[in-house]
Amino acid sequence: MKRCIASFVLFLLTTVFSQNKIAVTIDDLPLQRIGSYSKEQYESLTKKLLTNLSLQKVPIIGFVNEGKLFTNNKLDENKTALLKQWLDAGFELGNHSFSHKSANQISAEEFNSDILNGEQVIRNLVESYGKRLEYFRHPFLHTGLSLAKRDSINDFLSNHNYKIAPITFDNSEWIYAAAYDKAIKEKNEQMMNKIGEDYLSYMKLKLEYWESQSVALFSRNISQTLLIHANALNAEYFDELCEIIRKKNYVFVTLDEALKDEAYESLDTFIKNNGISWIHRWAITKGKKKDFFGNEPEASKWVADYAGIDYE
Ligand SMILES: [Zn+2]
Repeated sequence: MKRCIASFVLFLLTTVFSQNKIAVTIDDLPLQRIGSYSKEQYESLTKKLLTNLSLQKVPIIGFVNEGKLFTNNKLDENKTALLKQWLDAGFELGNHSFSHKSANQISAEEFNSDILNGEQVIRNLVESYGKRLEYFRHPFLHTGLSLAKRDSINDFLSNHNYKIAPITFDNSEWIYAAAYDKAIKEKNEQMMNKIGEDYLSYMKLKLEYWESQSVALFSRNISQTLLIHANALNAEYFDELCEIIRKKNYVFVTLDEALKDEAYESLDTFIKNNGISWIHRWAITKGKKKDFFGNEPEASKWVADYAGIDYE
């Protein structure tokens, strides 16, 4: 019996210590495509999204585009109220710039002022909840096309006490989300379900892919960071997405906790015009050749076609 208990304890310990870690980050708050919704629609969609997110009891950080809080160039209290709901639900907020411009397409000065414009409302708001505004997420994951430009933006961020929020679990959820929104507009429930099911299978494949890329680069599964967006797709499917992730033996951790993994200190000299996973940025920096990057699962073509997105 004693031996039995001892082996059970050993089993428990190895299970606990071998657990994978993942942080959930959600971009484009208060909502993707908020301009296409009426007040009633964006309020009910936010309620549905936050209900689903809260039920999972996982830490989440949402990245805000303050430009989305404006209606006819005026700060809209109704839209700001949506962010309060995120904070009321216990989630963190970060800065995703005011107008979601690419650092690859505008000057460092313009980009930096877009960062500061992006904290005019949320800095006070976040601090009024006793929290800190700590993280910045680059729109499109674009960080600049030269090291000099990238570094000057990084210096600006660190002088304003921001940490960069990288991601590893990159994916094309945005294509599924666009298709899903179209199916909602067309009141095509069959299509909505079909897109949702395909989204879940795709995300499972993608998670497995990033695990194997992580093992190929670091000989272990590093703490992963997931990027998805604030949209109707996740309002419906976040619970099922979490279930898939949990079945792969993950615990959900804060972004802070995930970034403690020393993998995130790896050298990154990537300056191409792609918004890609940091795993691939580190791999490119380490000189990995083309065959390392093969077999990445892609969003189904029929979904992209339905959404009218040409992404190949
Ligand atoms: Zn974004």
